[in-house]
Amino acid sequence: MEYELIIAFETHVELKTRSKLFCDCAVDYEATPNSRICPVCTGQPGALPVLNKKAVEYSIRAGLALNCDINRRSRFARKNYFYPDLPKGYQISQYERPFCENGFLEITGDDGAPYPVGIKRIHLEEDAGKLVHSSEYFDKADYSYVDYNRSSVPLLEIVTDHERNPLRSTQEARTYLEKLRQILRYIDISDCTIEKGQFRCDVNVSIRPQGSQQFGNRAEIKNMASFRFIMNALEYEIHRQEQIIQKGEEVAQETRLFDEQKKVTVSMRSKEDAPDYRYFPDPDLLEVRIEPEWVEEIKGTMPELPDQKIHRIIRDYGISRNDALLLTRDKQIADFYEQCAALCEDKKRLGIWMIKDLFRLLNESSLPVEQCPIAPPLFAELINLITRGDITEQIGRTVLEEMFRSGKTAQSIIEEKDLKPIQDMDALDSILSQVMVEHPDVVNQIMEGNLKPVSFLIGQVMKKTGGKADPKKVKDLIHEKLVS
Ligand SMILES: [Zn+2]
Repeated sequence: MEYELIIAFETHVELKTRSKLFCDCAVDYEATPNSRICPVCTGQPGALPVLNKKAVEYSIRAGLALNCDINRRSRFARKNYFYPDLPKGYQISQYERPFCENGFLEITGDDGAPYPVGIKRIHLEEDAGKLVHSSEYFDKADYSYVDYNRSSVPLLEIVTDHERNPLRSTQEARTYLEKLRQILRYIDISDCTIEKGQFRCDVNVSIRPQGSQQFGNRAEIKNMASFRFIMNALEYEIHRQEQIIQKGEEVAQETRLFDEQKKVTVSMRSKEDAPDYRYFPDPDLLEVRIEPEWVEEIKGTMPELPDQKIHRIIRDYGISRNDALLLTRDKQIADFYEQCAALCEDKKRLGIWMIKDLFRLLNESSLPVEQCPIAPPLFAELINLITRGDITEQIGRTVLEEMFRSGKTAQSIIEEKDLKPIQDMDALDSILSQVMVEHPDVVNQIMEGNLKPVSFLIGQVMKKTGGKADPKKVKDLIHEKLVS
């Protein structure tokens, strides 16, 4: 039997505000444990929360980027449960009236067509603190520390809809997560660094026979903090559910955990054990009213989003869609490209050089593009020198590597190392003649009409000149001497 897959995500994103959600303690991931805390974020009796306006603005930015309705009236609610890293005994979250609802995020579906993934809601809540166990393995730990630095850091929860345009495959799930992270970085509300726990997911998955209208029971896998593990967990879970249904049994509605070592999901709690959080409006916080003027003001500060940027640079610079996708992957990469493009004659060549050569050098030194030792105007100058034929592509590569290492300009490296191409045709002619004398058999083959070894001769001339010959000119010379 063919099965249809329904995947939904609850993604938690730590916002990059300077201070926490309800107090003025700094958000600082590197600080000494418990050095960024106060009576409010450690839940001392009588302490009162004051809402961080920036965090609300960031929530609205996310809502606008994900095509949501922004609710004019919104509320915070208490989600009651006990956990050692939750000092108040409740988490301040949103329940009935979140800031944003009914949006979508357009991805390219598996069929190649645009697919608007339903976004059900986006709400703002506070993060919990962090437990640090004395052993890497929880069951071997004799004791645990609690670090409240993270307690009350603003956390945005973005929930996809499992009824309206849900994700239909593991590939679409991955595409969604990557694009969501890209957009949140573009609008600059979170760094979304997965390793630092700034982007974490709960994933819901269920299957049903193809064409069925009824939803199958779904399993929720909690707290996934790596794309690879999410994919592993989804694949395992789909297989597990298929086997249960094939046996004629029913999949249990439950919460599961992913065992990263064994790559399996294990049951954590069933529907019956699901906690009742007894949500109620937080009496310490007023209703939040969001004026349409404020939303308009925020709209005016929104940057160009990835899809808009891709369309524009394809149109303005005539580069391929594939290159445009690679050059807009990060906003910083796109900014670098556009700063260069403003100075470059050949924007296509610029893109190819960035993707092939500059990305390789950055990767090898594990540097993000914003720390590239070559400033955009200097990179643009190098590309212009190649475009104008002042240096060959091969020399260009040597110069680029030297620029990357030393931070010098292309011009000064070319002069210092005498890398100007050989313009003197007589000199080139005599080098070619020498090569021909050294390889008489190759010369014979070409004269008999076999043009394949022409590139071999060009290579030999390039070798002798240390790459300073223009391969096109050498090719012309060979044709002149041997072919015509
Ligand atoms: Zn505080």
